[in-house]
Amino acid sequence: MRRAGLVVWGAHQLASSLVRPGVTTGEIDRGVEEFFLEQGAVPLFKGVPGKVPFPAVCCMSVNDEVVHGIPGSRVLVAGDIVSIDTGCSVDGWCGDSAVTYAVGPIAPDVQRLLDCTSGVLALAIQLMGVRSRWSDVATEMAKYVRDYGFSVVENFVGHGIGRKMHEDPQVPNFCTPAFRRNHDFDLEPGLVIAVEPMVNMGSKKVHVLPDHWTQSTIDGCPSAHFEHTVAMTENGPVVLTAAPAAGESVGRVA
Ligand code: MG
Ligand code: MG
Repeated sequence: MRRAGLVVWGAHQLASSLVRPGVTTGEIDRGVEEFFLEQGAVPLFKGVPGKVPFPAVCCMSVNDEVVHGIPGSRVLVAGDIVSIDTGCSVDGWCGDSAVTYAVGPIAPDVQRLLDCTSGVLALAIQLMGVRSRWSDVATEMAKYVRDYGFSVVENFVGHGIGRKMHEDPQVPNFCTPAFRRNHDFDLEPGLVIAVEPMVNMGSKKVHVLPDHWTQSTIDGCPSAHFEHTVAMTENGPVVLTAAPAAGESVGRVA
């Protein structure tokens, strides 16, 4: 799974280098698709079933779009944010990661939203090493976001990941009594989950656009999304979609 995670990390390095005012989301998606092909990796998002099959290798969600945005002819402009979520498999094992990128200079309150969302993902990964149940991690994630004055999206959650991109368990970024009672799980070695907080500046509520995929905030306020694939080991959590360590390289790019 680390090999898939490294390719996903590489895809984000490429995407990050392409994000700038004037580029279309479709151009970034085509770059990532070529990169996956070069790496011998199988894109996981293209063809995902829905009312219409998902048509791209990345989800790209701009500004008030939360998740599942479709790349295309939209031109990014300075001040936008774009959440890029992508995943691939290598030799049958999956990786999945999302980053919200700033397009040129962005407003201070939007930067604060990005800081909060990347911060709550980092908090979750750190807590996975010191808590024994996901419910305790999720409770602290929700508090962290609340303390910023923002709201955690509840319609979408993280997930187990392995041979398939979406496996059990569901991994919410908030905790309810029903979750703690019926769906909680232990953070024990062997568990691999995609942790993916989505944070809205305003209301937590989202709605789907007429393209059948794009989820947008109900109030038009911006939203951010950060995700890593994280494995629990005997030595604590390991981020499988993180940058290569010394001696590691991304797939076929030596
Ligand atoms: Mg993802
Ligand atoms: Mg995911």
